[in-house]
Amino acid sequence: MLDDMFDYLQGIRQRPVWQPIPDTARAAFRSPMPAQGSTLADVHQQFKQNILPYTIGNIHPGFFGWVQGGGTPVGMLAEMLAAGLNANCGGRDQIPIEVERQLVRWMADLFEFPSDATGLFLTGSSMANMIAVLVARYRALGREVRTHGVPPKRQLVAYASAGAHGCIAQAMDLAGLGSANLRKIPMNAQFQMDTMALETAITADRQAGLQPFFVAATVGTVDVGAIDELPVVAAIAERNGLWFHVDGAYGALAMLAPELKPLLDGIELADSIACDFHKWGQVPYDAGFILVRDGTAHLDTFATRDTYLRRDVRGMAANSPWPTDFGPDLSRGFRALKTWFTFQVFGAERIGQVINETCVLARYLSERVQAQPELELLAPVALNIVCFRYRSEGDVDAFNAALVADLQESGIAAPSVTTVRGHLAIRVAIVNHRTGRQDIDALLDAVLNLGARRLNLLTTESA
Ligand SMILES: *Cc1c(COP(=O)(O)O)cnc(C)c1O
Repeated sequence: MLDDMFDYLQGIRQRPVWQPIPDTARAAFRSPMPAQGSTLADVHQQFKQNILPYTIGNIHPGFFGWVQGGGTPVGMLAEMLAAGLNANCGGRDQIPIEVERQLVRWMADLFEFPSDATGLFLTGSSMANMIAVLVARYRALGREVRTHGVPPKRQLVAYASAGAHGCIAQAMDLAGLGSANLRKIPMNAQFQMDTMALETAITADRQAGLQPFFVAATVGTVDVGAIDELPVVAAIAERNGLWFHVDGAYGALAMLAPELKPLLDGIELADSIACDFHKWGQVPYDAGFILVRDGTAHLDTFATRDTYLRRDVRGMAANSPWPTDFGPDLSRGFRALKTWFTFQVFGAERIGQVINETCVLARYLSERVQAQPELELLAPVALNIVCFRYRSEGDVDAFNAALVADLQESGIAAPSVTTVRGHLAIRVAIVNHRTGRQDIDALLDAVLNLGARRLNLLTTESA
């Protein structure tokens, strides 16, 4: 099984990025629960036939849809070891907890946080952003909020750019604060949060008797990869007593690349940072992470004292506080191990190089787009995301949406779509360490060929 998987990974460029799923494959997953087992070889055969060919394709070097990581064989092997150990990383006195703590310290060092900062592995940044909102809510309202909820007439209000990820609004919803109480601040020409508008909004909310408590800056927005002006947002948060959170889901690890690190100046001022190892960090899914400056507030937000989770100074119940004291999960897998293996085997510098290389490729793509009269760049390229469109007559949005579907079905290259200032864009996010210039060239050739074909179709239809 391992050999098969290595062969598959090695030959991945020769396969289609994605392919439509035949009915027979889908039908295989409509069968009832088997009363009797089959041989492992049989089930593996089913895996190869009906599962392996029909994933979204994010390990493929031609995958550019959404910000998804490529994973590595090292991460895959570490995941196998973790499954073999079957460690439950909720807590207790075991070395897997120390591995996670080491990652927390590495992250605290990377972001120049104090040594008593706390952190936790989670499924992803959606959860990490929610943890940040919950700790900030605790700081704003105190211990009472955990038992009695938000008191009447204390309406907490949060702020993020209009380009922020939807999970910030969802975090407000899940925290019982209401997604409508996230103010979506307009963006400037660089797609960064307009910091003047931020201050105006905070002042207006305060005058209306509301309680501003939290601002999330984004490092690497999902649509265009923009980075908010962290020092300015930090200063506004400081002046107004707000929790300063950074959603660095994919972008925060740019700290590992010396060429990109200066773009993140000010991140060291954050109260908390959400960050995914499963995107730019190339760790297999899932490996999200939250880092919190004030470890006491983090602990006080989640710790409970249930007797079955009793702590001790010796025996297996020692080594408190435990990861379960810093988040909502009790049973948790050993996500830290694949992350630890990735850093140990490749080293921080190599991961930083891979991250920088994706940005070099993005600049290469944007130059080629600007050199093509058929194409139009729709947003400046800050990091690794390029948004452009094919020029056409008539309904340009519909044309480009169809072109992206053509591309995905071709199996050659798979970008996704997004909306940039009201225009539908072909969005190319370069995240995978396997992607090289040849893949960018193949993407562009396919865009131009399929675009020209679609344009012809249009003109013959209207003729
Ligand atoms: C991916 C992403 C998220 C969501 O993270 P998940 O790991 O998918 O939960 C949040 N914010 C930004 C900016 C992202 O890129």
